[in-house]
Amino acid sequence: MVELKTDTSIDAMHAAGQVLGRTLTAVRQAADVGVSLLELDEVARGVLREAGASSPFLGYRPSFAPVPFPAVICASVNDAIVHGIPTGYRLRDGDLVSIDCGAELDGWASDSAISFVVGEPRPADVRLIETAERALAAGIEAAVVGNRTGDIAHAIGTVCRDAGYGVPQGFGGHGIGRRMHEDPSVPNEGRPGRGFPLRHGMALAIEPMLIASGRDGYHEAPDGWTLRTNDGSRAAHVEHTVAITDDGPRILSAR
Ligand code: MG
Ligand code: MG
Repeated sequence: MVELKTDTSIDAMHAAGQVLGRTLTAVRQAADVGVSLLELDEVARGVLREAGASSPFLGYRPSFAPVPFPAVICASVNDAIVHGIPTGYRLRDGDLVSIDCGAELDGWASDSAISFVVGEPRPADVRLIETAERALAAGIEAAVVGNRTGDIAHAIGTVCRDAGYGVPQGFGGHGIGRRMHEDPSVPNEGRPGRGFPLRHGMALAIEPMLIASGRDGYHEAPDGWTLRTNDGSRAAHVEHTVAITDDGPRILSAR
């Protein structure tokens, strides 16, 4: 069931999104060569705690997961696409890092992700991340009343495929509100004019995932969480929580 939010509820989600934006900015600033993924998780925990927010990631256990998620960020490095568990791994020069994080404030959730390179970036990684951000912008632009979820999916998929990148199937965006994952699902590829009709008061997490090689294959790592590309090529993942309004899309997790 798709829940429509009141304008007051959207404002409350925006407050959660502002905390989340600050959290991701702090993690981005702390990320550097030699810094561990667990240290980045600590940075995020600190910002959430200080804001009086909780983490919808910590202890989260969807049906596919063998263990509850043990952290407040997902940290996915290089060939990891999403759902990376923060470990003691220390970032190396040129690593491509995707950080996904959530914040819950006054009972409302927000979900957002960034990709970036620590140290000296390879041109190929810069292009991959820029394309991910362009795909996200295209998806947000299509998140308007009168469109359907398929229009968002089509906008994202077109940007990714036109640039020659792979799009992992089976994971993508989702409705969001009091819970982090609500209906409807928002795939990263699809047919325009199909899917759920977009209405004022819907809130969606839109989150393109791109694989550099152009192939779509991925697998679950032995930890039961991390999704890695099958061919070892690098991946990027960016995400915003967005409200559909009569005045156009409103980004609730801006940084
Ligand atoms: Mg997320
Ligand atoms: Mg999400």
